[in-house]
Amino acid sequence: MSAYRHILLGLDLSVESHQVVDRAAALRNAFGSELSVIHVIEPLSFAYGGDIPMDFSGIQEEIHKQARTHMTQLCDPLNIPEKNRHLVVGRPETEIHHVAEEIGADLVVVGSHGRHGLSLLMGSTANGVLHGAKCDVLAVRVKSQEK
Ligand code: AMP
Repeated sequence: MSAYRHILLGLDLSVESHQVVDRAAALRNAFGSELSVIHVIEPLSFAYGGDIPMDFSGIQEEIHKQARTHMTQLCDPLNIPEKNRHLVVGRPETEIHHVAEEIGADLVVVGSHGRHGLSLLMGSTANGVLHGAKCDVLAVRVKSQEK
């Protein structure tokens, strides 16, 4: 198997993120790949659909700030350069596909909770990333750490 040259890691910044980070870092070390990370912030207006006339800009700014801090905590120990850290706004699947193409990633790594039943029918982010990806996708089985 040829080595992966550029890995894109999708981070939801949950408490379980480190499990996916560890696997992506191990692959980077094994293949000598470049590693990029992406976290996608979903606009609050997506959730409220514009039905409620509210100004979300303050909350959105705070979400950005916290995401940046969290991303720094995960990326600094791995020495991921600033140019390889993507913090973008949109829908996770769409933006992951977009950035993967933009940077020429040949492997996307995401976590998977291995859901089944109704959740699977409704689709998870990992499913969404797999469908329509133009490169390999690795779904790392994540063990739940929720209390
Ligand atoms: P989920 O289907 O929401 O449980 O997420 C599965 C995996 O998709 C996570 O472990 C991440 O790798 C990726 N992911 C989910 N949400 C995001 C996000 N907002 N930004 C980047 N990656 C995400």
